[in-house]
Amino acid sequence: MINIIGYPEARLALLFSEWDEKTYHVRQVLNWIYHHGAEDFSVMTNLSKSLRAKLTDYFFIGFPRIEKKTVSKDGTTKYLFCLEDDSRIESVWIPDTGRKTLCISTQVGCRLACTFCLTGTLGLRRNLTAAEFIGQYMAVNQVLPEEDRITNVVIMGMGEPLDNYEPVVDGLRLMVSPEAMAIGNRRITLSTSGLVDKLEKFQDEDIHVNLAVSLNATEDSTRDAIMPINKKYPIRVLLERLRQYPLKKRRRITFEYVLLKGVNDTPEDAVRLAKLLKGIPCKINLIAFNGFEGADHQSPSRANVLDFQNYLISKNYTVFIRKPRGDDVLGACGQLAAETLAVS
Ligand code: SF4
Repeated sequence: MINIIGYPEARLALLFSEWDEKTYHVRQVLNWIYHHGAEDFSVMTNLSKSLRAKLTDYFFIGFPRIEKKTVSKDGTTKYLFCLEDDSRIESVWIPDTGRKTLCISTQVGCRLACTFCLTGTLGLRRNLTAAEFIGQYMAVNQVLPEEDRITNVVIMGMGEPLDNYEPVVDGLRLMVSPEAMAIGNRRITLSTSGLVDKLEKFQDEDIHVNLAVSLNATEDSTRDAIMPINKKYPIRVLLERLRQYPLKKRRRITFEYVLLKGVNDTPEDAVRLAKLLKGIPCKINLIAFNGFEGADHQSPSRANVLDFQNYLISKNYTVFIRKPRGDDVLGACGQLAAETLAVS
């Protein structure tokens, strides 16, 4: 049996034509699942009995199960999911004025081993299926009161999304499809550490979600040390690819820069960063390192973070300092995996 959550719309249309069913029924099925949260085909009363029977024989409808919810003092809520094979993943719901963002995971662990990230210490345990990927959104939205429903999605949780390419692309297509989850593509941000070959492939998928790139260094020697993927795709190669990335009108790439005390937070780094990003339509998110037990790094001083920001602003960049959210429940950037570690 196949989980229909995450099953690509185009494949469903093919299947329906093999079954000699009209393809407009695809729209009705997606509507039941993604708009009405149907958990059983029997409730799909605008479909014929025979189609419902075929669907029941072929598919099941399954979401990941929320095992635990931890609420931070700032309202940020971390959801721990237990998957079918007992793997654990985490999603983080972040309330803000005018928006409610869900940060979702794409892998159990991650093999990229960035030194400032707790998930990286797990190694890659497995990829998520498309159902587990988008199911986090569906499961969390189901338990939220109407006024707290998710408005924005950031794919920045556990894992490197482009390292789990097909399920993530299948899930994204369903997220943006008006027949399925109908989330505006401007409300979705895909974050990558910079897998250059996959970025090249992704730009041809015609899925125009926001792109965030985790840069975190201005020299290869530093980036090699904190993000080993840089040995394969050095800064120059990554930025060259991004210069060619086809952005829609008025869209910009977000560069994430985690500031690590004494590693990448010097005035010289700020100068180099301004030069490196020249000509790329972008904004910059500065994130003071969020600590975790056993981490090799320290948070920079507030003064350093502000100096770094001010220099970049003086060079006409749009620069935000990301507020740490949910750090008291290890829900902030780079801190996901604690619960996964605890149960493994
Ligand atoms: S920062 Fe992202 S890519 Fe790097 S180890 Fe963590 S989850 Fe993986």
